[in-house]
Amino acid sequence: MANNIIETDSDLIKDITKLGGGSLKKCFQCATCSVVCNLSSDDRPFPRKEMIWAQWGLKDKLLSDPDVWRCYQCGDCSVYCPRGAKPAEVMGAIRNYSFKNYAFPKFMGKALSSPKYLPLLFAVPVILFFLVLQYMGALSSVPTGSIAFTRFDNYVDVIFVLLSVLVLLAMAKGVLEFWKNMDQNNTHGTAYGSAGIYNSILLAVQEVLTHKNFKKCDANNIRYTGHLGIFYGFIALFIVTAIVFIGDRVFHMSLPMGQVNPVKILANLGAFALIVGCSIAFYNRLGRKDKAGESYYYDWLFLSVLFLIGATGLLTEIIRLSGYAAAAYWSYFIHLTFVFFLIGYFPYSKFAHLIYRFVAIIYSKYAGMSEPAEDSVSERIEEKSVA
Ligand code: SF4
Ligand code: SF4
Repeated sequence: MANNIIETDSDLIKDITKLGGGSLKKCFQCATCSVVCNLSSDDRPFPRKEMIWAQWGLKDKLLSDPDVWRCYQCGDCSVYCPRGAKPAEVMGAIRNYSFKNYAFPKFMGKALSSPKYLPLLFAVPVILFFLVLQYMGALSSVPTGSIAFTRFDNYVDVIFVLLSVLVLLAMAKGVLEFWKNMDQNNTHGTAYGSAGIYNSILLAVQEVLTHKNFKKCDANNIRYTGHLGIFYGFIALFIVTAIVFIGDRVFHMSLPMGQVNPVKILANLGAFALIVGCSIAFYNRLGRKDKAGESYYYDWLFLSVLFLIGATGLLTEIIRLSGYAAAAYWSYFIHLTFVFFLIGYFPYSKFAHLIYRFVAIIYSKYAGMSEPAEDSVSERIEEKSVA
């Protein structure tokens, strides 16, 4: 990415249109969107600048813009846009475009961007797990004795550990490139670096955990509730997986856990929060299009996989407790397939927004970018109309 030469990409509008930002050409730069956005700051207002960068084909500017990730797609700007240019959707499409661009290897970015590759993407874990079952001789007859998923652990753990290493490497490459681009393409003010990197990370963690800025959404604040459920549900399940993996491998803990075991309770609560959060998100996207805006393939894929992980996890537990061995093992198989999909394709799907947004927030603190104004949309509109 060059520092001084501004390069344009003639295919950018076409690409962003395909990824959900087809309305961007309607923008006539009135700036209403930046005024009403509760998260926009005075020194770096968005999303107006992103709209014009996208229209002009300024790919490098968009790919290095932390503000693209400071947007929570609340939809306030789309509600107020007088031209129907849907800036909220365009910001979402730019993020989708970023997943594709920072993908390593590149073909994975392409594979996750279109439904035509979906069967192939699911075929990978299905074939892999079938091979494991075949190798264990579990395809011809259902394992006898009490239902215990731990009998597959040796193989399943190897698959997931290897997968996690590959995913971490791919994600690290994307993140390093993103940071480098942000650092090269953004003007550094006097506050650059003064917050210190550790302090910036701490502040970003605080912001993400409290969803402080997400709360500021006006038109579509139900999205905040759904996101909270998904976020904490996922964190709970992640903690449970780590405890079970270490407990099983290092401390040889007895599995399956009893229903009143605190870790089990946390797992059930996590799955429940995930299902409720996803259901709110589905309702919002399907039933409140006027406020939530249009949803696209990246949104549906991500939400559906998360929902199915929660649902198949709970279903597997219920079937196991009811003692139907064959159904329990197949349900576990399906559950693992979705888990593989989520983890294995993490850097290329909408799931990666978790990391890119976190990194963009760290960068904005580190670079001393100003925080969003504290006044509300209505106050700002009033101010503007008085002026
Ligand atoms: S409000 Fe709409 S038309 Fe005005 S700058 Fe924003 S996107 Fe463009
Ligand atoms: S969707 Fe919400 S957060 Fe994003 S730019 Fe529009 S108003 Fe701001």
